[in-house]
Amino acid sequence: MSRIPLVVGNWKMNGSLASSDAWLREFRELCRKDAVRCESGLCVPSAYLLAFTPKLDSEPVAGEFHVGAEDVSDRVGTGAFTGEVSGDMLRDLGAWWCIVGHSERRTLYGETDERVAEKVKAAYDAGLHPILCVGETLEERNAGRTREVVLRQIAAVLSVAGIEALEAGAVAYEPLWAIGTGVAAGTDQIEPVHAVIRGALEEADPVKGGAIRILYGGSVKPQNAAEIIALPDVDGALVGGASLDAGNFYRICAAV
Ligand code: PEP
Repeated sequence: MSRIPLVVGNWKMNGSLASSDAWLREFRELCRKDAVRCESGLCVPSAYLLAFTPKLDSEPVAGEFHVGAEDVSDRVGTGAFTGEVSGDMLRDLGAWWCIVGHSERRTLYGETDERVAEKVKAAYDAGLHPILCVGETLEERNAGRTREVVLRQIAAVLSVAGIEALEAGAVAYEPLWAIGTGVAAGTDQIEPVHAVIRGALEEADPVKGGAIRILYGGSVKPQNAAEIIALPDVDGALVGGASLDAGNFYRICAAV
């Protein structure tokens, strides 16, 4: 099964209009000099989507590149949901990707597996491409519960949103203890979890499950990207801190 590698950045609550503009100019310039061979994307605060999307129409970045959101409301349509941004609104702003269930949403904002599953469904139904984040805490890993946790997180989404939602997007394995620490999980830790995720997806549907890209996230940088992405069933990366710098993000894409 050949899956096109995918590298997606996650800016989190960072950036500005000026830095969005500068990032896109630098990334585009680097791609113009030497095009990357993977598919790539950047998820930014929804407030900055319009700093990217109109410019992508007028002068596309070399290769397949799409901008996305970092979260979506589980509510559909319109209504009295102060502060929520719906999938339709994100599509209206030109978003393609949408990160769902990032560990910061789960731990800091109490998002349950059920809420995450509803969000994946809402994103997919709105025409977005959801990137579902799964991963265990250090305590769960030390208790030998990694497999159980990621399988539970995936099962919740499969039962509510269906495998088609993940087929349209991707799954990102992000062990919480490797996020933002500067120290990525070891290749011997990453590979078995990706195999577990692949097994669950293929059990749900052998063909669709085999086609879904599984990204690794957690302290990916230009220095370790090639080694991680070369692992079986690692089809790319979700990149936090290193994506804030267009040059670093480009170097990660170029390492694929
Ligand atoms: C993330 O938050 O999705 C992430 C992977 O962060 P970092 O690359 O900074 O560890």
